[in-house]
Parts: sequence; C-alpha cells; structure tokens
Amino acid sequence: MTQSFGFTPDLTAFLGGMYSGVRGTPKVTGKIRNSAGTLSLAAHIDAVVTATCSRCLKEFGFVIERDITASLSESPEAEEDSELYCVSDAKIDANELIVTELILDSPQSPVCREDCAGLCVKCGKDLNEGECGCAGEADPRFAALLGWSDE
Ligand SMILES: [Zn+2]
Ligand SMILES: [Zn+2]
Repeated sequence: MTQSFGFTPDLTAFLGGMYSGVRGTPKVTGKIRNSAGTLSLAAHIDAVVTATCSRCLKEFGFVIERDITASLSESPEAEEDSELYCVSDAKIDANELIVTELILDSPQSPVCREDCAGLCVKCGKDLNEGECGCAGEADPRFAALLGWSDE
C-alpha cells in the first residue's frame, strides 16, 4: 500500500551555526510505500531559511528544495500491521529523517551567491558593491603563508 502525507516540518534541529531562522512556512510532501515489509519513503521538502553568507556576512534566504528517499523499516510486522504507520507516525519519522538529511547535506559555509566577492580582508568593504582601493596589495593569505605579517 502507498500512503501520501504532507506536513509542516519542524526545522528547529537544523538551525544553528550559519542558519538562523525559518522564513515562511516550510512544506513537506511525500509518500510511504509498504513493500514486503520494508517501508520506503520518498519526500520532497520546500523551505527557505535565513542564512548568513560566509563571505560577505549578509543575511539571505537559503532555499532548500530537496528530494529525500529512505527505507524506514525492515520489520516483518510492518506488512501485516500497516495501521501501525499511520500518518502521524510517518510524520514523526519523516521529520527526523528530513532534518538529519538537511544537516548532513547543507553547506557549513553557505554563500549568498556562487560569485559573492565577500568583504575586503583589509578594510572590510563589501566587494559586491565595488572595489575598495586595497586591490593590488598582496593577498594577506599569501603573506601569512610566506611568513609576512602586519605586526
Ligand atoms: Zn555574500
Ligand atoms: Zn579594502
């Protein structure tokens, strides 16, 4: 049998670090299929969380759109007792599964966009808004590698 479900996921466990809050209402839809005692879950999550760009430190909406599949159980009783996995049970399992998946699968250093120029390490200017005038000086990361420093 196949059972569809849909719910608003609780993303609390996902938040932390560079991810500070949920925007709008996240949504999960999916199906659970019981096949020979194995429950397989296929879900799709749509959510937007507030993230801090690891380069320019601006907050932006980090879009989460992901398909998640998993096998929930190999219990031999699962086939006989399909009632056991009613929608509310599935919701608990699915939420935990999805959040775990998101934690494993999301960048620890999110960027607001792939080509975010970040902040100037010398003056702190947001280089997305233009050059700051420090350009042309040695990259301090190279300087550090070569043993130079500003001290
Ligand atoms: Zn950025
Ligand atoms: Zn600068």
